[in-house]
Amino acid sequence: MAERIKQQSPEYAKMSQATAISLGLVRGRMYRGAANRCVNLLVHYPEGCSANCAYCGLAKKRPGSYKDKSFIHVAWPVFPMDEIIDAINNAPSYVKRTCISMITNGKCRLATLEMIRRLKDKAPLPISILITPTILNENDLVEMKNNGADKIGVAIDLATPELFDKYRGKGVSGPHRWEKYWEILKKSLEIFRYPNVGAHLMVGMGETEEQMVYLMDRLWHMGVESHLFSFFAEEDSKLADRPQPPWPAYLRIQLARYIIEEKLGSSRGMRFDREGRILDFGLASDLLESVITYGKPFMTTGCSGPDGEVACNRPFGNCLPDVKQWNYPYIPNEEELGLIRQNIFKTGN
Ligand code: SF4
Repeated sequence: MAERIKQQSPEYAKMSQATAISLGLVRGRMYRGAANRCVNLLVHYPEGCSANCAYCGLAKKRPGSYKDKSFIHVAWPVFPMDEIIDAINNAPSYVKRTCISMITNGKCRLATLEMIRRLKDKAPLPISILITPTILNENDLVEMKNNGADKIGVAIDLATPELFDKYRGKGVSGPHRWEKYWEILKKSLEIFRYPNVGAHLMVGMGETEEQMVYLMDRLWHMGVESHLFSFFAEEDSKLADRPQPPWPAYLRIQLARYIIEEKLGSSRGMRFDREGRILDFGLASDLLESVITYGKPFMTTGCSGPDGEVACNRPFGNCLPDVKQWNYPYIPNEEELGLIRQNIFKTGN
């Protein structure tokens, strides 16, 4: 028991299985040679997270101890911070960023600040923080920046205030509030500036494609990039039986994000059907075809590295390894692009 209590942040952190493979701390290989380009860390306490988000593997009411709970479907083994820092210093050159994900725990704020300080002092990679707005104020964001973080992620996750309240707030007796998330998102933007703030958005929670497109457009015009995720049920979680969003719908939302953020068009130029599905992206058909063929719209979106390319590519965080993926961690190959073309305009499930 004493040993278990000692294992907590900032002395220890959890690390995603894919990161542990990239850094050589765990043996393994990934489908199609996918490589995780980000060191994804999670603050660790034996008592875990006190929130109860319905879709999250770490939710307080999901059975199991925090140490062993999966998160976005993969195991997160615990390592001492010193070992993590050594591994980052010996990381392959394709690893371009470190990210610390916070949880909802009163101790998490100070531990995160200390982890940023150590990583900045002793390792070369830029540092993102996926923050928990509920336990933070403006001054904390300033301290994170002063300690060495350069990017902030805010997991808005839900497309509307009603869905947010249902799955993260009152609907699950959880502490999170839509207004607080947006207040801290705006403060993050004032402090970290464009292009250093991203919003995590999760597709498949009951929103329409139109609602998600308008949200991505709103965020983009504020100066916030959208980092897309697809719902993928965690075993034994409150939503364990809920299916992933239809693949065609996810592909359309990915393509709409790309069109908006690459300034090829906007939500105003797109048309939607009565169920809110995208009918028309507002681009000439030859341009639309070349954007699809480019493949990049269907890759994972997340914080970039110093090379400007997405570093946080989260291989298979949203789906099982297959030709059909809800976020490709690499440029889709010909077979995968063929499937995307066959499916992207399908309106059924
Ligand atoms: S996109 Fe990745 S690196 Fe950026 S905040 Fe989210 S989890 Fe962290």
